[in-house]
Amino acid sequence: MIDYALVLANDLTDPDAMLRVCRLAAPHIDGVKIGITSSMVPGAAIFRRVRELMEDKPILADFKVGDISFPAQDGTFGGTNARIIETLMHWGADYVTVHAFPGWSSMQEALWAAHRAGGKALVLPFMTHPGADLFFGMPLNKRHTIDSLERTGIPKAAEVVSDCSTVSELILALGERMGVDGFIGPGNQPEILQAYRSRTSKEIWSPGFGRQDRRGRDLSEQFRHWARSVGPRSAAIVGSIIYNDPSPAEAAHGIRRILQQATDSAAISER
Ligand code: C5P
Repeated sequence: MIDYALVLANDLTDPDAMLRVCRLAAPHIDGVKIGITSSMVPGAAIFRRVRELMEDKPILADFKVGDISFPAQDGTFGGTNARIIETLMHWGADYVTVHAFPGWSSMQEALWAAHRAGGKALVLPFMTHPGADLFFGMPLNKRHTIDSLERTGIPKAAEVVSDCSTVSELILALGERMGVDGFIGPGNQPEILQAYRSRTSKEIWSPGFGRQDRRGRDLSEQFRHWARSVGPRSAAIVGSIIYNDPSPAEAAHGIRRILQQATDSAAISER
């Protein structure tokens, strides 16, 4: 993934309309995110059709996988997470999003399945919607966390937890320890993204622009704040502003220009 990439979140439920937006926006974007909304009617085979339109640009399956693991004695896994991810990657997804709440083994199975299929897994330590801090921002019960990780057989569990004070920070620390490929971070909350960056140099993909901004900033200001907080190795995920526009190509082209100006100005102010 290039620095400060632009990724289209294509959430249209009608497959033909969804594919049309991919085709029109493709020259102006660096990747596409397809979630449950746009794949539940046509099924996972839609990923192959999107692949044809995207050529070698990355496709993220935003399924927020969070089911059981089933670890076998020989180091392989046969739980539900592996089945979901194998299917998505078989049909053309390169990346998949994974929830950390079901615990270490569930995350581990997701990462194992993604890597075995030649793909990557991104974990969510926070989200963009109102009230996302209810669980993500919850103060960490360190004693319980260390006990649970030790019971799972994680070496030096106390080290993982030592500088974490919230669940969100723990998810980042677990992701780092486990070797996930990157994280999904809230594009509408620069302070949280800054905290992510202080803990990881991995890829950070951020949705939450446009309609999800809650501070009255225009798009240019949103991107500037985002770029300054998150730095390179990051992607801005933009959905409804592009797919709801009567001309998705023009919308994507315009957003690319605003993003470029914002990242240039963020780079200048860093010097
Ligand atoms: O239309 P909009 O740009 O708000 O779309 C954002 C996309 O990113 C949606 O597909 C949404 O489900 C997804 N997303 C998000 N916040 C997260 C994780 C995913 O908005 N924390």
